[in-house]
Amino acid sequence: MEYFEAELNRNQTSVNALKVVKRLTSQGHEAYLVGGCVRDLLLRKSPKDFDVATSARPQEVRELFRNSRSIGRRFKIVHVRFGRDIVEVATFRAPHDEFETEVNIADTGMILSDNIYGSFDEDVNRRDFTMNALYYDADANIIEDSVNGMADIEQKQIRLIGEPESRYREDPVRMLRAVRFKAKLNFEIEPGTAAPLRELGYLLKDIPPARLFEEVLKLFMFGHGEASLRALQEYDLFDCLFPDSKHAASDRMEQLIRLALASTDRRIAEDKPVTPAFIYAALLWYPFLDETLRLKEEGYSNFDASHEAAGNVIAKQQLSTSIPRRFSGSMRDIWHLQSRLTVKFGKKPEILLEHKRFRAAYDFLLLREESGEELDDLGAWWTEFQENAPSKRAEMSRDAPRPKRKRRRKRRSRNGNKRTPQ
Ligand code: ATP
Ligand code: MG
Repeated sequence: MEYFEAELNRNQTSVNALKVVKRLTSQGHEAYLVGGCVRDLLLRKSPKDFDVATSARPQEVRELFRNSRSIGRRFKIVHVRFGRDIVEVATFRAPHDEFETEVNIADTGMILSDNIYGSFDEDVNRRDFTMNALYYDADANIIEDSVNGMADIEQKQIRLIGEPESRYREDPVRMLRAVRFKAKLNFEIEPGTAAPLRELGYLLKDIPPARLFEEVLKLFMFGHGEASLRALQEYDLFDCLFPDSKHAASDRMEQLIRLALASTDRRIAEDKPVTPAFIYAALLWYPFLDETLRLKEEGYSNFDASHEAAGNVIAKQQLSTSIPRRFSGSMRDIWHLQSRLTVKFGKKPEILLEHKRFRAAYDFLLLREESGEELDDLGAWWTEFQENAPSKRAEMSRDAPRPKRKRRRKRRSRNGNKRTPQ
């Protein structure tokens, strides 16, 4: 074990997390700040959250903090709440398989064999990367490092603790974490840690889609989305998360996804709101177009084909990463508004301006053009339309080309019955 005088910026350290540590140590427990917060403080970045590791059992932690509650079934973590700030307190834990079924738990939820908690050393060794296994002792103002993590941070290296392949097999999400830290911290994945990545991506199919969705958010929604995409592609992991995008792969598609991520990164840097719906709309735009075309060839009307296609493509993606309904609804809106944006004539453009998803749909249209889709300068028309005063807008839509009269086609629904007019 090596000890380092800590050079952490106390101003960036959470006062609340330090309070928790102090209270625990004053009661004779061991307690440390650990994980991403120590790593980020050393890198002079402000940590996303603060984790405390302690020798105290969850029940003991609960008793020390009135403002706390425990979460998790098998391995209990205690959340200590200070207003909106939450400090996560976890008891030292023995290495275990993240996917181990809860065999030690009786139907009543009672833990039958209590082998999940561990010693300080075990807690170190169950962590993923050396840079994430630094323990900050706030009383002594010292960082305890038994895995050479300080040196790896110094050299900007992402290195798994232990034998890489078996650590990935234990928990395949560690592959996505490696890639994310590469993108976020601008570190390199050390060769031994990188070596198995390309071979083991398929293991992600066993991870629950809800967990993968969370990981996708962490990859794409924290200001380093474009870099995450690059790193995912470098290690052949992108296709494991978005298998349908792979099938529809083209330079244009890749360009669209890249532009959507870059635009999200920019918005985050400017403190503007962002939504995963926009990125998912880009990720699945080409699969959506392909599916729409396929259904039209089967005889569906334009309207039915695009609605059915959206449903099919989203349902398929949800086998890999879930998409909560609040986001899939906006994705559908962004997609369906693309065809409404082609109507420049009459009252419709003015009405469309009021749509709650107009702005996202318009931004999406611009990205489509920027990525090489030929849309007859539709984006520029809408830019001008929005900038104009209402009287000028009325002129623009009066002068716009009238839509061609559509040929009537038989509308058939999925089961082949004629649709009855509604
Ligand atoms: P972030 O900046 O995203 O919060 P983080 O490293 O803090 O990065 P968390 O998910 O908050 O990531 O996890 C906190 C700590 O828990 C990690 O630093 C690591 O020590 C440990 N950890 C998290 N996930 C895993 C995992 N899948 N396998 C092993 N250890 C993990
Ligand atoms: Mg964290």
